Amino acid sequence: MVADWKPNRGPVSASGPEKHGLSATAAQAIDVDHIVKRYGDFTAVDDVSFTVQEGQIFGLLGPNGAGKSTLIRMMTTLIPISAGTARIAGHDVQKDPDGVRRAIGVIPQALTSDLDLTVEENLNIYAKLYDVPAKKRKAAIDELLQLVDLTKWRSAQTKTLSGGMRRRLEIARGLVHSPRIFFLDEPTTGLDPVSRVAVWEMLTSIKANRQLTILLTTHYMDEADRLCDRIAIVDHGKLVALDTPPALKASVPGSNVIEAQFENAPTDWEQRLHGLSDVTSVQHQGAGMYRILTGNGSRTTTELVEAAVQAGVGVKSLSVENTSLDDVFVHYTGRQLRDELVKAHAFVMPPRPGMQP
Ligand code: ADP
Repeated sequence: MVADWKPNRGPVSASGPEKHGLSATAAQAIDVDHIVKRYGDFTAVDDVSFTVQEGQIFGLLGPNGAGKSTLIRMMTTLIPISAGTARIAGHDVQKDPDGVRRAIGVIPQALTSDLDLTVEENLNIYAKLYDVPAKKRKAAIDELLQLVDLTKWRSAQTKTLSGGMRRRLEIARGLVHSPRIFFLDEPTTGLDPVSRVAVWEMLTSIKANRQLTILLTTHYMDEADRLCDRIAIVDHGKLVALDTPPALKASVPGSNVIEAQFENAPTDWEQRLHGLSDVTSVQHQGAGMYRILTGNGSRTTTELVEAAVQAGVGVKSLSVENTSLDDVFVHYTGRQLRDELVKAHAFVMPPRPGMQP
C-alpha cells in the first residue's frame, strides 16, 4: 500500500502535457532495469525488470505482500532503490527525482481527500498545490469533473460521497497537473462490483482522452484482464511472467478449465481424472471440488461424466470455462491467488517500528 503518499510539493508547474511530455530520448514511458529493494536482510523486490510503452495500461498483479507497492514507491521516488535503475518518462528516479515527479500522478490506495471540503474545493487545493495558474484552474476542474462524472456533485461535501465516487474524485485530483504517467495502487480495492466497473470504464476513457500511460497494481484477476494491455505477475518480490493477457493465457497448457464437485469419489479419483483425454493438470481443492485444465473441454467433459457414472460417483456441479488469469497465476507460482488472498487477510501485519527506507 502507498498509504503515506504525500502530494509532491516539488517544482511542479501545470502548463499542460507539452511541458510534462516524455523527453526526446525516452523510448519507453517506464523503464525498470534490475531493480532491487532490501529492508535489512529481507528482499521485498528482487531484480525486477520491465518496460511500459507510452499510452499503455500496465498491470502489476500479485497477492498481498508480493512487492507491488514497493515497486510503485520506488518508481515514484518515495523510497530509495537498493540496486538497479528506473527511468520514468526518461528521467532517472535517483538522479532526477524532480523530473520524475513533474511527469507523474500518483493515486495511493488509501483515500486521502478531505472529507469536510466539497468536491470542488478538494480539486482546487490540489490545483493550487501544483501551481496550476489561477486563470486555468476553473476550466481544468470543470473538465476533470466531467471526465470522472462528478459535475453534479461539485458542491457536495466529500463525506457524503460513496466509496466509488470518492475514488473517482481522487483520480481527478491526481490529474490536475496533467501528468503523462499515472500510478494507481489497487484502484478498486474495497469498492462494490458496480463501482469497480465504473472506475475501469473511467480509466479506459481517461487513458484514451489524455494519452496517459497508466501503471496500476491489483490483486484482482478480472481487473488486470479487463484493463491492462500488458501484465507482470509478481510473487515474493520477483517477476514471474510478463505479457499481454491473451498471451499469458495461451502460455498455460490447456485451453479450458472444468470445475466439478463430486460425491463419493474414490481415493484415486484425482489420478483417474488425470487419465482423461487432453487433461494437462488436476487440482483437488477440497470438499470434492476439482479444477481440471484441458486442451479440449467438450471431450474431457463427456469422458468425465461417463467415468463418474461408471464409478458410481455423483456429479454435484460442473462448469466449463476458458483459461483465466487465475490459471496463469497457478501455472507460474504453483499456488492459487485466491488462497493467497485469504491467507493475507487472515494475517494482520504487525507495525513496522523504525522501518524507514
Ligand atoms: P504488495 O503491495 O504486493 O502487497 P508490498 O510492496 O507492500 O506488497 O510489500 C512487499 C513485502 O515487503 C512485504 O513482505 C512487506 O511486509 C515488506 N515491506 C514493505 N514495506 C516494508 C518496510 N518499510 N519495512 C520492512 N518490510 C517492508
